[in-house]
Amino acid sequence: ARAQGRNTRNSFTPDIGRAAVDRLLLENQLHQALDGNELVLFYQPQIDMLSGRMIAVEALVRWNHPVHGLLGPDHFIPLAEKSELVLPLGEWVVRTACQQMQAWHLAGLTHIKRVAVNLSARQFEQADLPAFVASILKETQLEAGHLELEITESVAMEKPERTIKILNTLLDMGIRLALDDFGTGYSSMTYLKQLPITTLKIDASFVRNIETDRYDAEICTATISLARKLGLNVVAEGVETPGQFRFLRNIECHEAQGFLISHPLPAAELAQFQPPPNPD
Ligand code: C2E
Ligand code: CA
Ligand code: CA
Ligand code: CA
Repeated sequence: ARAQGRNTRNSFTPDIGRAAVDRLLLENQLHQALDGNELVLFYQPQIDMLSGRMIAVEALVRWNHPVHGLLGPDHFIPLAEKSELVLPLGEWVVRTACQQMQAWHLAGLTHIKRVAVNLSARQFEQADLPAFVASILKETQLEAGHLELEITESVAMEKPERTIKILNTLLDMGIRLALDDFGTGYSSMTYLKQLPITTLKIDASFVRNIETDRYDAEICTATISLARKLGLNVVAEGVETPGQFRFLRNIECHEAQGFLISHPLPAAELAQFQPPPNPD
């Protein structure tokens, strides 16, 4: 009876409601995706810029959609954030990343020191984020220091005092905390001052023209110098060319992540991954 579904929707749904209907459809599907194992994590290597060795990975979620194929997070995370789905989705991501990390360690891939996981603002409104993370660590037997949680400045902006309290609890547990997309937010220095973090991630937008744009070059140089003085670990994102890599290494950036080194990979491929030789 649904065979003419396409026409049916066109004739019965006024244009103005189309987006809402699509959203509802997708939301329902995302709900099923969570139950039906359609979500997968890809892992992007982060390498030490001096040794060239992979020392960490960032977990990035994808939806293996039965019709649309592999969908990137930009297609469904914003939607999940508008509904309650972001909570079970976020929990699934933390649990899966920790399980994977523990599996790699048991398989002898102990050079991977951290798995980084992105958190949504909504996850900070959750009743007890630290207790949840603690239960996952216990369940997966993963050491707290092997988990890094990434937050953006906008996440912190929503309820700064509450967020800072939660971050401090996580830090006390030994979990690493990264400030993601650094420099793109509203008041980066204020957040840098207020938020208890261990890692700073320089946004790709500063890296892109680092060799040609004097401002980008100076901003990155100053940021890395400042971060080093504050005792933070610095990861540059979106490193795509040998020139960018060399520049960042010269200004003493610790770690690099980007297509030059590797695209995000499925877990099985990540386990086989060998970083390309460092550019001279
Ligand atoms: P992000 O945290 O800033 O992640 C980096 C994004 O840049 C990833 O896109 C990655 O694939 C892409 N990327 C990495 N290297 C390069 C490069 O050299 N050049 C370019 N042009 N891009 C590069 P992706 O996987 O599509 O993720 C997009 C965003 O979705 C992430 O941005 C993050 O904010 C969000 N996200 C991903 N996974 C999760 C998750 O599990 N939970 C939540 N809440 N958000 C997630
Ligand atoms: Ca991130
Ligand atoms: Ca980022
Ligand atoms: Ca980003």
